[in-house]
Amino acid sequence: MGRIVLDQVSKCFGDVEVIPPLDLTIEDGEFAVFVGPSGCGKSTLLRMIAGLEDLTSGAIAIDGEDVTEVPPSKRGLAMVFQSYALYPHMTVRKNIGFPLRMEKMGQAEIDKRVETASQSLNLTDYLDRKPGQLSGGQRQRVAIGRAIVRDPSAFLFDEPLSNLDAALRVGMRLEISEMHARMKTTMIYVTHDQVEAMTMADKIVVLQAGVIEQVGSPLDLYHKPQNVFVAGFIGSPK
Ligand code: ADP
Ligand code: MG
Repeated sequence: MGRIVLDQVSKCFGDVEVIPPLDLTIEDGEFAVFVGPSGCGKSTLLRMIAGLEDLTSGAIAIDGEDVTEVPPSKRGLAMVFQSYALYPHMTVRKNIGFPLRMEKMGQAEIDKRVETASQSLNLTDYLDRKPGQLSGGQRQRVAIGRAIVRDPSAFLFDEPLSNLDAALRVGMRLEISEMHARMKTTMIYVTHDQVEAMTMADKIVVLQAGVIEQVGSPLDLYHKPQNVFVAGFIGSPK
Protein backbone atom coordinates (compact mmCIF):
# COMPACT_ATOMS: atom_id res chain seq x y z
CA MET A 1 0.00 0.00 0.00
CA GLY A 2 1.18 3.56 -0.57
CA ARG A 3 -1.33 5.81 -2.35
CA ILE A 4 -0.62 9.44 -1.54
CA VAL A 5 -3.17 12.17 -2.18
CA LEU A 6 -2.51 15.90 -1.82
CA ASP A 7 -5.65 18.03 -1.66
CA GLN A 8 -5.24 21.79 -2.08
CA VAL A 9 -1.87 21.70 -0.32
CA SER A 10 -0.08 25.03 -0.07
CA LYS A 11 2.94 26.47 1.71
CA CYS A 12 3.89 29.98 2.79
CA PHE A 13 7.13 30.95 4.48
CA GLY A 14 6.19 34.19 6.22
CA ASP A 15 4.44 36.33 3.60
CA VAL A 16 5.90 34.40 0.68
CA GLU A 17 3.70 31.74 -0.89
CA VAL A 18 6.24 29.28 -2.29
CA ILE A 19 3.59 26.67 -3.18
CA PRO A 20 0.10 27.87 -4.16
CA PRO A 21 -2.67 25.31 -3.50
CA LEU A 22 -2.14 22.18 -5.58
CA ASP A 23 -3.73 18.75 -6.04
CA LEU A 24 -1.67 15.66 -6.76
CA THR A 25 -2.17 11.90 -6.54
CA ILE A 26 0.66 9.36 -6.44
CA GLU A 27 -0.71 5.88 -7.09
CA ASP A 28 0.25 2.83 -5.06
CA GLY A 29 3.48 1.35 -6.41
CA GLU A 30 4.23 4.27 -8.68
CA PHE A 31 7.71 5.73 -9.20
CA ALA A 32 6.97 9.47 -9.21
CA VAL A 33 9.64 12.08 -9.88
CA PHE A 34 9.35 15.73 -8.87
CA VAL A 35 11.55 17.68 -11.25
CA GLY A 36 12.19 21.39 -11.70
CA PRO A 37 14.83 24.06 -11.29
CA SER A 38 16.49 24.83 -7.98
CA GLY A 39 14.19 26.72 -5.62
CA CYS A 40 10.93 25.63 -7.30
CA GLY A 41 9.65 23.90 -4.14
CA LYS A 42 10.49 20.23 -4.69
CA SER A 43 12.04 19.69 -1.25
CA THR A 44 9.31 21.67 0.49
CA LEU A 45 6.63 19.52 -1.15
CA LEU A 46 8.45 16.31 -0.22
CA ARG A 47 9.00 17.50 3.34
CA MET A 48 5.28 18.27 3.68
CA ILE A 49 4.46 14.73 2.53
CA ALA A 50 6.98 13.40 5.06
CA GLY A 51 5.48 15.55 7.80
CA LEU A 52 8.70 17.49 8.35
CA GLU A 53 7.02 20.73 7.28
CA ASP A 54 3.55 21.99 8.28
CA LEU A 55 1.01 22.72 5.57
CA THR A 56 -0.29 26.27 5.26
CA SER A 57 -3.53 24.86 3.86
CA GLY A 58 -4.92 21.61 2.52
CA ALA A 59 -4.64 17.96 3.52
CA ILE A 60 -2.55 14.89 2.78
CA ALA A 61 -3.91 11.34 2.84
CA ILE A 62 -1.95 8.09 2.71
CA ASP A 63 -3.99 5.02 1.78
CA GLY A 64 -7.18 6.90 2.54
CA GLU A 65 -6.12 8.06 5.99
CA ASP A 66 -5.75 11.80 6.61
CA VAL A 67 -2.19 12.18 7.92
CA THR A 68 -2.06 15.98 7.93
CA GLU A 69 -1.68 16.03 11.71
CA VAL A 70 0.22 12.74 12.00
CA PRO A 71 3.90 13.08 13.06
CA PRO A 72 6.60 11.97 10.57
CA SER A 73 7.53 8.78 12.42
CA LYS A 74 3.92 7.54 12.32
CA ARG A 75 3.32 8.05 8.60
CA GLY A 76 4.97 4.78 7.54
CA LEU A 77 7.24 6.58 5.07
CA ALA A 78 11.00 6.33 4.64
CA MET A 79 12.94 9.47 3.79
CA VAL A 80 16.35 9.03 2.11
CA PHE A 81 18.40 12.22 2.13
CA GLN A 82 21.37 13.15 -0.05
CA SER A 83 23.68 13.18 2.92
CA TYR A 84 23.71 9.91 4.74
CA ALA A 85 25.28 9.37 8.10
CA LEU A 86 26.27 5.78 8.83
CA TYR A 87 27.74 4.73 12.17
CA PRO A 88 31.45 4.24 11.35
CA HIS A 89 32.13 1.82 14.21
CA MET A 90 29.22 -0.50 13.35
CA THR A 91 29.20 -3.18 10.66
CA VAL A 92 26.83 -2.89 7.70
CA ARG A 93 24.63 -5.50 9.41
CA LYS A 94 24.41 -3.39 12.57
CA ASN A 95 23.87 -0.17 10.62
CA ILE A 96 20.96 -1.61 8.66
CA GLY A 97 19.38 -3.16 11.74
CA PHE A 98 19.84 -0.05 13.88
CA PRO A 99 16.33 1.46 13.44
CA LEU A 100 14.80 -1.88 14.42
CA ARG A 101 16.95 -2.18 17.56
CA MET A 102 15.72 1.29 18.48
CA GLU A 103 12.17 -0.05 18.18
CA LYS A 104 13.12 -2.96 20.49
CA MET A 105 12.30 -5.55 17.85
CA GLY A 106 13.41 -9.14 18.60
CA GLN A 107 16.82 -10.21 17.28
CA ALA A 108 15.45 -13.04 15.10
CA GLU A 109 13.07 -10.69 13.30
CA ILE A 110 15.84 -8.09 12.93
CA ASP A 111 18.15 -10.70 11.37
CA LYS A 112 15.43 -11.75 8.96
CA ARG A 113 14.68 -8.20 7.84
CA VAL A 114 18.36 -7.25 7.48
CA GLU A 115 18.83 -10.38 5.35
CA THR A 116 15.90 -9.49 3.06
CA ALA A 117 16.99 -5.85 2.75
CA SER A 118 20.58 -6.75 1.96
CA GLN A 119 19.40 -9.14 -0.76
CA SER A 120 17.25 -6.41 -2.32
CA LEU A 121 20.30 -4.14 -2.39
CA ASN A 122 23.01 -6.66 -3.32
CA LEU A 123 24.76 -6.10 0.00
CA THR A 124 24.93 -9.66 1.30
CA ASP A 125 28.69 -9.89 0.72
CA TYR A 126 29.37 -6.73 2.69
CA LEU A 127 27.38 -7.29 5.88
CA ASP A 128 30.44 -7.73 8.10
CA ARG A 129 32.34 -4.72 6.76
CA LYS A 130 32.38 -1.27 8.28
CA PRO A 131 31.37 1.85 6.32
CA GLY A 132 35.02 2.91 5.91
CA GLN A 133 35.61 -0.24 3.85
CA LEU A 134 32.83 0.54 1.36
CA SER A 135 32.58 2.64 -1.79
CA GLY A 136 30.33 5.71 -1.93
CA GLY A 137 27.66 3.77 -3.81
CA GLN A 138 27.74 0.89 -1.34
CA ARG A 139 27.37 3.32 1.56
CA GLN A 140 24.40 4.87 -0.17
CA ARG A 141 22.85 1.41 -0.43
CA VAL A 142 23.38 0.80 3.29
CA ALA A 143 21.56 4.07 3.98
CA ILE A 144 18.68 2.88 1.80
CA GLY A 145 18.82 -0.48 3.61
CA ARG A 146 18.17 1.26 6.90
CA ALA A 147 15.00 2.68 5.37
CA ILE A 148 13.90 -0.62 3.80
CA VAL A 149 14.00 -2.66 7.03
CA ARG A 150 11.15 -0.62 8.46
CA ASP A 151 8.96 -1.85 5.59
CA PRO A 152 7.65 1.60 4.65
CA SER A 153 4.57 2.12 2.44
CA ALA A 154 6.57 4.63 0.39
CA PHE A 155 10.13 5.90 -0.04
CA LEU A 156 10.87 9.60 -0.38
CA PHE A 157 14.20 10.51 -1.96
CA ASP A 158 15.52 14.09 -2.03
CA GLU A 159 18.30 14.33 -4.63
CA PRO A 160 19.97 11.23 -3.14
CA LEU A 161 22.64 11.02 -5.83
CA SER A 162 23.72 14.64 -6.11
CA ASN A 163 26.85 14.09 -4.01
CA LEU A 164 28.07 11.19 -6.15
CA ASP A 165 30.30 11.43 -9.21
CA ALA A 166 28.75 11.04 -12.66
CA ALA A 167 29.72 7.39 -13.23
CA LEU A 168 28.46 6.28 -9.85
CA ARG A 169 25.24 8.23 -10.35
CA VAL A 170 24.35 6.23 -13.45
CA GLY A 171 24.89 2.97 -11.58
CA MET A 172 22.86 4.09 -8.58
CA ARG A 173 19.98 5.23 -10.79
CA LEU A 174 19.81 1.72 -12.16
CA GLU A 175 19.99 0.21 -8.69
CA ILE A 176 17.15 2.36 -7.39
CA SER A 177 15.07 1.54 -10.48
CA GLU A 178 15.76 -2.17 -9.99
CA MET A 179 14.92 -1.89 -6.30
CA HIS A 180 11.58 -0.35 -7.30
CA ALA A 181 10.94 -3.11 -9.82
CA ARG A 182 11.62 -5.76 -7.16
CA MET A 183 9.77 -4.16 -4.25
CA LYS A 184 6.96 -2.40 -6.13
CA THR A 185 6.75 0.11 -3.29
CA THR A 186 5.67 3.68 -4.01
CA MET A 187 8.65 5.97 -4.50
CA ILE A 188 8.79 9.75 -4.78
CA TYR A 189 12.10 10.95 -6.10
CA VAL A 190 13.13 14.61 -6.19
CA THR A 191 15.71 15.81 -8.69
CA HIS A 192 16.65 18.86 -10.77
CA ASP A 193 18.13 16.48 -13.37
CA GLN A 194 15.90 15.94 -16.42
CA VAL A 195 17.79 12.81 -17.45
CA GLU A 196 17.16 11.22 -14.06
CA ALA A 197 13.49 12.11 -14.33
CA MET A 198 13.09 10.80 -17.86
CA THR A 199 14.92 7.52 -17.22
CA MET A 200 13.50 6.60 -13.80
CA ALA A 201 9.91 7.83 -13.62
CA ASP A 202 6.55 6.22 -14.19
CA LYS A 203 5.07 9.67 -13.56
CA ILE A 204 6.89 13.00 -13.80
CA VAL A 205 5.63 16.07 -11.95
CA VAL A 206 7.19 19.20 -13.47
CA LEU A 207 7.32 22.14 -11.05
CA GLN A 208 8.10 25.78 -11.64
CA ALA A 209 7.87 28.34 -8.83
CA GLY A 210 5.71 25.98 -6.74
CA VAL A 211 3.22 25.39 -9.56
CA ILE A 212 2.71 22.02 -11.28
CA GLU A 213 3.27 22.69 -14.97
CA GLN A 214 2.51 19.15 -16.10
CA VAL A 215 2.04 15.62 -14.79
CA GLY A 216 2.62 12.72 -17.13
CA SER A 217 4.73 9.77 -18.20
CA PRO A 218 8.16 10.49 -19.69
CA LEU A 219 6.68 9.75 -23.14
CA ASP A 220 3.77 12.15 -22.56
CA LEU A 221 6.13 14.93 -21.60
CA TYR A 222 8.45 14.24 -24.48
CA HIS A 223 5.78 14.03 -27.16
CA LYS A 224 3.10 16.31 -25.72
CA PRO A 225 4.66 19.01 -23.55
CA GLN A 226 1.81 21.26 -22.40
CA ASN A 227 3.76 24.49 -22.56
CA VAL A 228 7.05 26.09 -23.50
CA PHE A 229 8.49 25.68 -20.02
CA VAL A 230 8.00 21.91 -20.02
CA ALA A 231 9.24 21.58 -23.60
CA GLY A 232 12.35 23.62 -22.82
CA PHE A 233 13.04 21.97 -19.52
CA ILE A 234 12.64 18.39 -20.71
CA GLY A 235 14.32 19.04 -24.03
CA SER A 236 17.39 20.88 -22.83
CA PRO A 237 20.54 18.86 -22.26
CA LYS A 238 21.99 19.06 -18.76
P1 ADP B 1 13.96 23.02 -4.29
O1 ADP B 1 14.05 21.83 -3.42
O2 ADP B 1 13.11 22.83 -5.50
O3 ADP B 1 15.32 23.55 -4.68
P2 ADP B 1 12.89 24.29 -1.91
O4 ADP B 1 11.64 23.53 -1.63
O5 ADP B 1 14.08 24.00 -1.10
O6 ADP B 1 13.23 24.19 -3.48
O7 ADP B 1 12.57 25.84 -1.75
C1 ADP B 1 11.44 26.46 -2.37
C2 ADP B 1 11.42 27.93 -2.00
O8 ADP B 1 11.11 28.06 -0.61
C3 ADP B 1 12.74 28.65 -2.21
O9 ADP B 1 12.46 29.94 -2.65
C4 ADP B 1 13.36 28.65 -0.83
O10 ADP B 1 14.21 29.75 -0.68
C5 ADP B 1 12.14 28.77 0.07
N1 ADP B 1 12.34 28.14 1.37
C6 ADP B 1 12.58 26.82 1.59
N2 ADP B 1 12.66 26.55 2.91
C7 ADP B 1 12.48 27.72 3.54
C8 ADP B 1 12.44 28.13 4.93
N3 ADP B 1 12.60 27.24 5.91
N4 ADP B 1 12.21 29.44 5.19
C9 ADP B 1 12.01 30.34 4.20
N5 ADP B 1 12.04 30.03 2.89
C10 ADP B 1 12.26 28.75 2.56
MG1 MG C 1 15.72 20.75 -2.76
